[in-house]
Amino acid sequence: MPRPDVLETLVSLAKRRGFIFQSSEIYGGTGSVWDYGPLGVELKNNVKARWWNAMVRERDDVEGLDAAILMHPKVWEASGHVSGFSDPLVDCKACKARFRADKLGDAVCPRKPSKQPGEHADCQLTEPRQFNLMFKTFIGPVEESASVVYLRPETAQGIFVNFLNVQQATRQKVPFGIAQIGKAFRNEITPGNFIFRTREFEQMEMQFFVEPGTDMEHFERWKQTRLEWHLGLGLDRDRLAFHQHTDKELAHYARAAFDINFDFGGTLGFQEIEGVHNRSDFDLRQHQEFSSKKLEYVDQANNKRYLPYVIETSVGVDRVTLAILVNALREEAVEGEQEGRTVMGFHPALAPIKAGVFPLTKKDGQPEMAERLASALRKRFPVFYDEAGAIGRRYRRQDEAGTPFGITIDSDSTANDSVTIRFRDDMGQIRVATSRVAEVLGRYLEADHARADSRLVE
Ligand code: ATP
Repeated sequence: MPRPDVLETLVSLAKRRGFIFQSSEIYGGTGSVWDYGPLGVELKNNVKARWWNAMVRERDDVEGLDAAILMHPKVWEASGHVSGFSDPLVDCKACKARFRADKLGDAVCPRKPSKQPGEHADCQLTEPRQFNLMFKTFIGPVEESASVVYLRPETAQGIFVNFLNVQQATRQKVPFGIAQIGKAFRNEITPGNFIFRTREFEQMEMQFFVEPGTDMEHFERWKQTRLEWHLGLGLDRDRLAFHQHTDKELAHYARAAFDINFDFGGTLGFQEIEGVHNRSDFDLRQHQEFSSKKLEYVDQANNKRYLPYVIETSVGVDRVTLAILVNALREEAVEGEQEGRTVMGFHPALAPIKAGVFPLTKKDGQPEMAERLASALRKRFPVFYDEAGAIGRRYRRQDEAGTPFGITIDSDSTANDSVTIRFRDDMGQIRVATSRVAEVLGRYLEADHARADSRLVE
């Protein structure tokens, strides 16, 4: 049974709650470009921080980098993007729509009744032509061919051209990796499905440089490491699967490639969120040839020099964020209440707001006590203070934002300096001394539980 399609529900929740807005909406929007709102930017930053910690900070064999988006145009000749980074495009002369020739089966003609392109009697599809996906612009004031530059379509090339800079500056020995997070741009022919395929997006890429001959063993290790990272985000195990590239899918230089796929539900189903590739020494060899600079690694201890092979892990920030949103969305009944609730059941480490602070009433010193607690907690966590409306409604608003902990100040609180902490997923409550709230939440977050559940408190 396919999982339900929740994209439409998510698009409206994301807008209403301030996760994601359409870009330039007041002008009618820009095609497949999205802006992250107050909750979205926190969620996305948490995803990036989690990747950076796992890939760079917690390891001593991977170094960080932040290379520029604009690069020397020869980079893209060497990488093969100028000649080969294209999709086959067909136009329909009848309705003016454009489709990817290799994805016609998944495409829908914009005219009614709904059919595939070519299925209406008067469809006029052109022969496919290759369309390069790189955005071109000009450096400096003159728009001429000598000043063409590209917006990078992937972050990886910034790592390859800095391979020796990083190796020499850090004195790392092969095997070691370089990681970076940054924007990439692709003039996709058929973007869509919300933030799944967009023209401006972010990637988190890591290139691990290894001695030829040891590459497959590193490849297998990275495959597992990366799958575990996704599981650690709280993504359901049965929504994740490896997809091995067939000979037809494999790039000519690649020795092996696996995608990590996530089940987005509906017609989208299982789709790639990350690629793990064994790229051989293709990229370094190309850059060595095009730049005429030696890029060999010198292994002094063993008196060898060689071009390392590269194992690449490449994941889209936006696509993983969409997977997290899809995975988190639940609509459930609440015992004893007529209305159910919508919950974004994020892993607490990813939740944009960690705690809501609520005075039960607006009197008896409760708001003052709640505000004092909220501002103390804000030094450590993003906190939302809310005194408006019935307490049940306030809980529901935070459930929808995915906030794992709700802290309520009631009449007992002012009398004996204690508060309740409500846990988002089981809705269980515990009572703790006000002075211990930060410590209890801090300990819970450190334990890295994927759910907010009162039964998991130590
Ligand atoms: P696809 O086949 O889906 O276009 P790809 O195989 O071209 O993806 P890669 O070049 O391997 O993708 O890029 C690595 C990762 O970057 C992908 O797994 C995905 O998460 C992300 N990514 C690539 N293109 C886009 C896009 N247009 N919008 C959002 N994320 C993207």
